[in-house]
Amino acid sequence: MKIIRSIASMQNRVKEMRKKAKRIGFVPTMGYLHPGHMSLAHQSVKECDITVMSIYVNPLQFGSGEDYEKYPRDLKKDITLSKKAGVDYLFVPSDYVMYPEGFSSKVSVTNVTQTLCGASRPGHFEGVATVVLKLFNIIMPDAAYFGQKDAQQAIIIKKMVKDLNMPIEIKALPIVREESGLAMSSRNAYLSEPQKLQALSLYQALSKARQLIRQGECSKVKIISAMKRLILREKSVKIDYIAIVDAEKLSIKKIIKGKVLIALAVFIGKVRLIDNIKLKVKK
Ligand code: AMP
Repeated sequence: MKIIRSIASMQNRVKEMRKKAKRIGFVPTMGYLHPGHMSLAHQSVKECDITVMSIYVNPLQFGSGEDYEKYPRDLKKDITLSKKAGVDYLFVPSDYVMYPEGFSSKVSVTNVTQTLCGASRPGHFEGVATVVLKLFNIIMPDAAYFGQKDAQQAIIIKKMVKDLNMPIEIKALPIVREESGLAMSSRNAYLSEPQKLQALSLYQALSKARQLIRQGECSKVKIISAMKRLILREKSVKIDYIAIVDAEKLSIKKIIKGKVLIALAVFIGKVRLIDNIKLKVKK
């Protein structure tokens, strides 16, 4: 596995690979790799000739007061894990490389950014779309692998690629969870053992919602109240949002029918965690 830090060097490798008609798979990450990230790498290695993974904690997608500075980082471990997964190139740019002085462009995707994390983290998805477009332009992948864990992000990137006619297949892979049900996340590293137990309420609440819907409950108010009750059993927990939206448009669903995404963001102490489930509701 080659570790690449400069854009010119990455682009030269890409040029060589494209000349040889290699299918390039790309896995963008912010590092501190866990099995969720690795599932994306494994899929890319399976489906493509060459896999490029990027590790970059993108300052543009963090709001003021968020955890950019203390976001967990462990490049040494990330190198070991990505090598083991069969990644061919690890692209690890610095802030200076990505955003040199005078950088002044921004990518904005509308509509699908209005709800969920888009509503509670203003500017977040502009930061995400900007860095992903830059990475796509540098790596020129045939396919890029994202996690359903960040369901809204995957939809926004799909939309951007479609709107801007980029010849890249966007794949959204299932959420990898701990045995306990907790969705794997680099931010879980912030949690103490008691907080890890509190964090189980996210998936428990989503499972409760699924159970209620399957039993025929169609009142959004009742479903969300039941989820809130489960989550707010602990005092140090705060709900950022719980939303039931159309799984594709991400617009708020008035009636629970068709493809539905139930998503939430919850603060366990100061740690903000997200999770979601997708359901197909007949009726
Ligand atoms: P991050 O490093 O958190 O920006 O995540 C990089 C990619 O890994 C994103 O596409 C995430 O959706 C995906 N990812 C993160 N956690 C998981 C998980 N538990 N299961 C599947 N994919 C994940």
